[in-house]
Amino acid sequence: MVNRMIYLDHAATTPVDPRVVEAMLPYFSQHYGNPSSLYRWGQEGRRAIDQARSRIAKILNCSHSEIIFTSGGTESDNLAIRGVAFARHHQGNHIITSRIEHHAVERTCQQREREFGSQVTYLPVDRYGRIDPADVERAITPQTTLISIMYANNEMGTIQPIAEIGEIARHHSVAFHTDAVQAAGYLDLDVEVLKVDLLSLSGHKFYGPKGVGVLYLRRGLKLLPTQTGGSHEDNRRAGTENVPGIVGLALALELAQQDRQEKARRLITLRDRLIQGILERVSKAQLTGHPTQRMPNSASFAIDGASGESLLMALDLAGICASSGSACTSGSLEPSYVLKACGLPDRLAVGALRLTLGHENTEEEIEYTLETLPAIVERLRAVAPAYA
Ligand code: PLP
Repeated sequence: MVNRMIYLDHAATTPVDPRVVEAMLPYFSQHYGNPSSLYRWGQEGRRAIDQARSRIAKILNCSHSEIIFTSGGTESDNLAIRGVAFARHHQGNHIITSRIEHHAVERTCQQREREFGSQVTYLPVDRYGRIDPADVERAITPQTTLISIMYANNEMGTIQPIAEIGEIARHHSVAFHTDAVQAAGYLDLDVEVLKVDLLSLSGHKFYGPKGVGVLYLRRGLKLLPTQTGGSHEDNRRAGTENVPGIVGLALALELAQQDRQEKARRLITLRDRLIQGILERVSKAQLTGHPTQRMPNSASFAIDGASGESLLMALDLAGICASSGSACTSGSLEPSYVLKACGLPDRLAVGALRLTLGHENTEEEIEYTLETLPAIVERLRAVAPAYA
């Protein structure tokens, strides 16, 4: 067991930036008034929310009234899909999504099918996890009310051609949602460039707090609230606002945008060193996801003969935090459905390893990982009966 820990799981969550913590602190026990209260103390909270909304709108290139605060990426995805499906049910009951969406999208679509008779098309992906926009167009029927395709995949970092899909959706007057939870902080979030009608964000993926998210909803698009109660968020999402979280998310997003491309370039250098080193030093390791259209911070592999779970435990003992796929599915020995959708056999899909970098990672940490991983894989292979 080593004392140092190297954190290579930034797609699962990120540490909160100390500047974000500082900005949030006054809203816990100093400016704690309820933003719906009319007296001054309440209005302080209201002002903080309004400011945060405008700052986020500026980054997304939209109007402040198009920003809805939620409790995170899962709720944003749920609200987008369920909200649009319910609001547009008289127009049709067909949803198009992909086979590699996060569970927050996938299981919401499955529930629509099971409980509400929706038809859902789960589009295939190529071996790199990319969706062909022509497949999206072919899948559209007069019944289609919503397309939901993620911006960047959480398990292997593959980036989708969102603007191209957006163009198609617009042409056919179908609402288009993208889960941008992994993309935020690294990729362009301009909703006009992306041509999206709904976009989900989650604070804790870009050095902000957990339990707070955003749903961008294009003006004029109808959405039935899934959470009812007070008239918060312009009657689109009831519940007293998480003021410290909202303040923190807005600052975190602004900080993430500052020098975004320069910071991404640094991460790409570290990522490529990691990818190259692992492919050279670990025999039969295979890169998963797209070789170039991938997140600047994401290195993901399928490692034959080393099950994801045992690999993670051995890496933990060696002081490295990694993931076998999405954080939500770790703990299960099921092969990754994302890798299976890319055509990987079960034998390889159980050996998923995801290393996701962050701004605080150093070259030295990458070298340590490259020195440590090959021996761990060899050890696991030596005791894996199937591999022998
Ligand atoms: N969507 C994607 C692509 C994610 O990676 C995650 C989190 O892992 C979520 C949605 C869910 O976000 P949250 O953890 O804020 O509920």
